[in-house]
Amino acid sequence: MNRSENSSGPHATRTPVQGAPGLYRQARRHVHMTRRLDISLYRKSFLYLALVGLTLYAVLFSTTPAVHDFFHEFRHHLMLVPCH
Ligand SMILES: [Zn+2]
Repeated sequence: MNRSENSSGPHATRTPVQGAPGLYRQARRHVHMTRRLDISLYRKSFLYLALVGLTLYAVLFSTTPAVHDFFHEFRHHLMLVPCH
């Protein structure tokens, strides 16, 4: 299933391909970048806790109208965080 795409280098994706193969190549490039990414447990845990903290803050304490109104009923059903 290997096509004859012998173009390699930084300008390989600049060549006009018909839609899906370019997208597939870009996805494979991102998979390679992710596999090469090597971060320590400390940084992983920091990223994880920051993500969880931001999510909980957005759901429970955000005053942005769109987010606040969307989670309004959920927040009242929790009966933990008063909002009015
Ligand atoms: Zn309320």
